[in-house]
Amino acid sequence: MPLVLRPAIAVALRGALAAVSPVSCAGCGAPDLEVCDSCRLLLRPRPVEAVHAGLRVVTALRYEFEVREAVLAYKQRGRLRLAAELGPALRAAVEVALPAGSPPTALVAVPPSPSGRRRRGWDPVTTLARAARVSASPGVLVVRPGRSSSQKRLDREQRARARRGSLRCRVDLTGHRVVVLDDVLTTGSTVQEARRALEDAGAEVVAAVCLASTPLASHAAS
Ligand SMILES: [Zn+2]
Repeated sequence: MPLVLRPAIAVALRGALAAVSPVSCAGCGAPDLEVCDSCRLLLRPRPVEAVHAGLRVVTALRYEFEVREAVLAYKQRGRLRLAAELGPALRAAVEVALPAGSPPTALVAVPPSPSGRRRRGWDPVTTLARAARVSASPGVLVVRPGRSSSQKRLDREQRARARRGSLRCRVDLTGHRVVVLDDVLTTGSTVQEARRALEDAGAEVVAAVCLASTPLASHAAS
């Protein structure tokens, strides 16, 4: 079953390559370190709350400069060991969104696009949640077949339009409180689409938590 085996092999190969290739800091490129001390300081969580279209959104890091490089190295260049460096930030944001004593709330991960899943063979948000030791429910939201979520060249409005209807919730969530979990917040259209799909399935979406947000996302908060 090549379809089943391919992702596992891809991940195993990447691990083997990482073991033999020289490492450089994922943030600044300094040699011989996964992450250098000064970049590790930049990855320390600084949770920020904002409201995007009526939804409370908590993010832990600003997606720029070294932080952006580290997140890209994790997501796009398959440096899976960075999950351990980025996990604590996600966890801190979850703790702000759901302080001790909050009613039971499910964390639902935004799924990768089909092309992203094919290319990487692994799921960045769920892997990050595991490293953060927060229990996210994968597979609750799925991307509708035929809906591309490649949005890199689209502006805010176009992204929102392209996203609408792109996710589907596979379970009945009537009566459940839910927090949406994603890695990078840019225009907010992805978390809003996740919220729509979850609310259509009966959930009460109380917040979204993202590892990092672009400066644009902070300005767009209203
Ligand atoms: Zn560095």
